[in-house]
Amino acid sequence: MDRSLTKGAVDFIEEERIFEALSQKEDAGKVAAVLAKSMEKKPLTLDETAALLVVRDERLLESLFDAARKLKRDIYGNRIVLFAPLYIGNHCVNDCLYCGFRRSLKTTVRRSLSDEELVSEVKGLENQGHKRLILVYGESPLYTPEYIAHTVRIVYQTKEKHGEIRRVNINAAPLDIAGFKTVKEAGIGTFQVFQETYHKPTYAEYHPANTIKGDYMWRLNAMDRAFEAGCDDMGIGALFGLYDWKFEVLGLISHALHLQGRYGVGPHTISFPRIQPANGLDFALKHPVSDKDFKHLVAVLRLAVPYTGLIMTAREKESLRNEVMQFGVSQIDAGTRLEIGAYHEKESASENQALEKEQFRIADNRSLDDTIRWLVRQKFIPSFCTSCYRVGRTGEHFMEYAIPGFIGKFCTPNALMTLAEYLKDYGSPSTVEAANELIKEELAAMPEGDLKSRLLERLSDLERNGTRDRLF
Ligand code: SAM
Ligand code: SF4
Repeated sequence: MDRSLTKGAVDFIEEERIFEALSQKEDAGKVAAVLAKSMEKKPLTLDETAALLVVRDERLLESLFDAARKLKRDIYGNRIVLFAPLYIGNHCVNDCLYCGFRRSLKTTVRRSLSDEELVSEVKGLENQGHKRLILVYGESPLYTPEYIAHTVRIVYQTKEKHGEIRRVNINAAPLDIAGFKTVKEAGIGTFQVFQETYHKPTYAEYHPANTIKGDYMWRLNAMDRAFEAGCDDMGIGALFGLYDWKFEVLGLISHALHLQGRYGVGPHTISFPRIQPANGLDFALKHPVSDKDFKHLVAVLRLAVPYTGLIMTAREKESLRNEVMQFGVSQIDAGTRLEIGAYHEKESASENQALEKEQFRIADNRSLDDTIRWLVRQKFIPSFCTSCYRVGRTGEHFMEYAIPGFIGKFCTPNALMTLAEYLKDYGSPSTVEAANELIKEELAAMPEGDLKSRLLERLSDLERNGTRDRLF
């Protein structure tokens, strides 16, 4: 591993500027102006984002939520992309205090999937109906870029009945430039690296200095190395609960602005996990994030980075997921199991997680089918779409939002097609019934014309001839 940073690497987290921005007083007039800017799909500056973060007044907060809801509904549509995490291995050389995989935990059961076990895991996921995965790894000399690329190839090659994985994202330790090139060649989608906390003293507190992860700049510079390697599909994130959530939001925005400024492309996704109970996690959080704060922070992210996908995971409970989805979350996981091997070794997800075998506790362990039924009943279209990435519409990720009519032309028909495929191959009777109702409504709402005829033709081709995976 070449531990050099990119040429001209800078620490773009300007703590003083962030604290100064956060010291502004709540100002209703300014908030209204900032919300108006958001509604025009313009990315917000640090100072403008801070103006939304410092809001405390209940009515003003409601107007912020309303704006985020409106942005979501009117501009982004009602699709929710579904994926599942697949843990490949939990060996780890780091000692992050919050993580059930940290090296000093002797009670953690360590395991990496063999190639055969990986194939069985993927088949288990395909038999649920999944099409998009994120592979997750600890940081270990075992998990080299070549090994990661090898596992990605196995996932793509594994097909069970009508099942196949069409997009593989990665959450792994930051790589060097050569490493990013290696995993890109395997055809990965998004590569995620979470900074965990952008606040340097806190970072040092939770990531011991004698570990690789203890090096703040190595991690902060990861996305730059990826871009230099030609990967332009990157996911950033912060682990909420380590430090002041408002600071972390401005850290994420600083990161997004830096990438946009230097490489002309912002992050494809932002994740905002909250710390969950984990094996050996025995400290009280100094900066717990309440549900109310969580909603606030998601709404602000939605408003501040209109072109970036927002991911919310099964760490959050159903009721909160329900509410926060309205603010513009674009991807959620479903049917999630964190225990290594559990997709093929266990019949169903269990409420009693074996924490010594898992990274942390999740709060939503419903099956994929239950999640789909829950989404369609609320008029969300569950989507397994992988089209843009596979037909080469990548690079300017924001295209889907920036090009007028893009969502109606590509995203909605692809969402409906992939939902129909799911229903045909995996849907339970009650899910099929509820989802067919939604598909009917969506079709009725579509303007007559060439697009609608093509969609109807493809839906009937799927039904009659079983023709799958036709992309818009
Ligand atoms: N090991 C690699 C790394 O740390 O970069 C890959 C990521 S790790 C397996 C996945 C993510 O899980 C971490 O980046 C962290 O944000 C999150 N995480 C760790 N412990 C957690 C906990 N107790 N609750 C919630 N999320 C946690
Ligand atoms: Fe290892 Fe990642 Fe867990 Fe840290 S967060 S201990 S690097 S698996």
